Amino acid sequence: MKKIEMRVPVVEMDGDEMTRVIWRLIKSRLIEPFVDLKTDYYDLGLKNRDATDDKITVQSALAVKKYGVAVKCATITPNAQRVEEYGLKKAWPSPNGTIRRILDGTVFRAPITVKGITPYVGGWTSPIVIARHAYGDIYNAAELPASSGEKAYLVITDKTGAEIKRKLIHDFSDGDGVVQGMHNLDASITSFAECCLAYALENRLSVMFGAKDTVSKTYDGRFKEIFNSVYEKKYKTAFGAAGISFLYTLIDDAVARVMRGNGGLLWVCKNYDGDVMSDMVATAYGSLGLMSSVLVSPDGKYEFEAAHGTVTRHYYKHLNGEETSTNPIATIWAWTGALKKRGELDGNNELVNFAVGLENAALRTMESGFLTSDLIPLFKNGDIEPVKLNTEEFLNKIAKNLV
Ligand code: NAP
Ligand code: MG
Repeated sequence: MKKIEMRVPVVEMDGDEMTRVIWRLIKSRLIEPFVDLKTDYYDLGLKNRDATDDKITVQSALAVKKYGVAVKCATITPNAQRVEEYGLKKAWPSPNGTIRRILDGTVFRAPITVKGITPYVGGWTSPIVIARHAYGDIYNAAELPASSGEKAYLVITDKTGAEIKRKLIHDFSDGDGVVQGMHNLDASITSFAECCLAYALENRLSVMFGAKDTVSKTYDGRFKEIFNSVYEKKYKTAFGAAGISFLYTLIDDAVARVMRGNGGLLWVCKNYDGDVMSDMVATAYGSLGLMSSVLVSPDGKYEFEAAHGTVTRHYYKHLNGEETSTNPIATIWAWTGALKKRGELDGNNELVNFAVGLENAALRTMESGFLTSDLIPLFKNGDIEPVKLNTEEFLNKIAKNLV
């Protein structure tokens, strides 16, 4: 059989632990037998990040700027325990953080829905995609403890350092406490709005954005203002033609609407809301192993990944020679997402069709009851008895359904 040709490589970012094991199996069993795979390879495994003083992460992000499409394996973000475990020079920063900073992107997370795997929230029959702003707010905040008798102010200076604005935050004469100062940038909020509205249009999804501008009149008020203005100026007509809508509402109303709705929308979240709500949505749809994730930059670069981590607990079992039943679906979706996007950009229909076919083979495998252990308790499809497979058996079963 002749393999499908690729004209332009995808940027391949290898990773750590169980997902690194799965990565090799996906390539060798599900992709390389069918596609003449071209990748620009970067090993973001922790050992190599340490050996290259983390330069490899920066190089891989620059390669995404060059080629436009990347697929990333989950990676360890080292803490003190990892520094010791791997004998690292230092606790290198999160690769995702580094890549996001270079690409200035928005993270979209969408559950992979499977017939027979029912969400915990009964009404959610279509996927809810979460768009999380990945800049600012509490993630780049300054915090201080304050003692009884002190006063905390918000102060803004001009270029020379001369004070031009001052506002009392709190007079701590009533006791000890804490203070926090955070910021965001119009440019970042604007590109976030652009990214979300473009994604919604491309995927024909209505958009809901919730914040708290009644309480936070200046800060959340700015988010509301910028989103409304980008929508009115650039997207309103196209949204109308596509039959989709944009709604700004208060975050508590947004949550209520999401819970009683049937899914099928793009839920735009500020940084913290997205952090929290994406884990809630992922869990409600069934398993972390069924949550896909893509970083989209304002200039149209894409990095596909799984939303979960390196599944350390399973990896240690694997190293011990014990059997694992780790769900590879989100990592497969990272590969199919990247191959589909590469195919679309290059006008390579064969590659697009192959990626769609691989997703369908994986869906058929699960729908017919062949599953990894995380999905067994969630499965209900007529009288099909679910069968638990180990990591490798599950991938082999998908390969069989592929041909
Ligand atoms: P994790 O790797 O997502 O795993 C947490 C637990 O969720 C697992 O122990 C497992 O539960 C379940 N799980 C996650 N993915 C699964 C899958 N594909 N199949 C079956 N079960 C799955 O999170 P973590 O253990 O907190 O973090 C491990 C490492 O990953 C850390 O070093 C962290 O820095 C890194 N991390 C990387 C990324 C990324 O690169 N995007 C994201 C998050 C974390 P059971 O053990 O109950 O089976
Ligand atoms: Mg989180």
